[in-house]
Amino acid sequence: MTRSAPAPASILVVEDEIKTADTVALYLRHGGHRVTVVRDGAEALRRATDEPWDLLILDRMLPGLEGSELLRRLREASDLPVILLTAMSGELDRLEGFRAGADDYVVKPFSPRELVARVEALLRRVGVSGRTPRGLRVGALHIDPESHEVRVGARALELSPTEFRLLRCLAEAPGRTFSRGELVERVLEGTAEERVVDSHVKNLRRKLEGIGADPGWIATVFGRGYKLRRPRDPS
Ligand code: CA
Repeated sequence: MTRSAPAPASILVVEDEIKTADTVALYLRHGGHRVTVVRDGAEALRRATDEPWDLLILDRMLPGLEGSELLRRLREASDLPVILLTAMSGELDRLEGFRAGADDYVVKPFSPRELVARVEALLRRVGVSGRTPRGLRVGALHIDPESHEVRVGARALELSPTEFRLLRCLAEAPGRTFSRGELVERVLEGTAEERVVDSHVKNLRRKLEGIGADPGWIATVFGRGYKLRRPRDPS
C-alpha cells in the first residue's frame, strides 16, 4: 500500500499570500524537500528559468505577472513540472491551465497533504529528480512512445493503437498540417479511406474532452487536413 517517497526535490513555490506560502513550504520541507518561496511573478519567471528546479508550484493570482502568463512564457524554454494553484475550479479555468502548460492543478482552498501527495506523484511520474519526462511533449500533452502512455497534465488518456499513432504523428510536428491522404499513409498504412481518418479524429477529440482537456487541440484545417495546435497557437 505504502509507496516510497521520491528523492528529495528542489521546489520553487510562487505564492504571494504569506500564510499559504508558509504552510505549503512547511509541509514540503517536512516531506524532505528543499523549498524556496518567491512572491512576485516577474522574479519567479526569472528564477524558474535561470535556476535548476525539480518542480514549480505556481499560484495563478500574483502581483507583477499573472500565473498563467508566467507559465506560458516559462514553457517557451522549459519542461519543468508545474502544479498550478487556482482559486477557480470552472472547466474553462482548468482548460486554460492545461493549455498554458500545467501538469496538474489544485483548487484553493486545498489540503496541504493533498498538495504534497500531488507533488510526490508528479515527481514519480517524471522520474529521477531533475530529469524531464521521456518522449514527446507538447504543452501539457506527454506521449511516451515506449510505454504508449499518453497524459494530459496528470490525466491519462486511454487510446486505441490507431488513435495513439495518429496523435503521435500530429505531435511530432505541432502546427504542421497533415492532409488526410498523408495520415492514411502514415497512420493507417495506406489501407483505409480518407474518411476513416475523420472518425479517428472525432474519437480522439471525444477522449480529450472526456478527461477535461481541450478537444480543439486537434484542429481542422479546412480543405487541407488536421494539425495539432502548438500550446501558444490561438484557438
Ligand atoms: Ca495569490
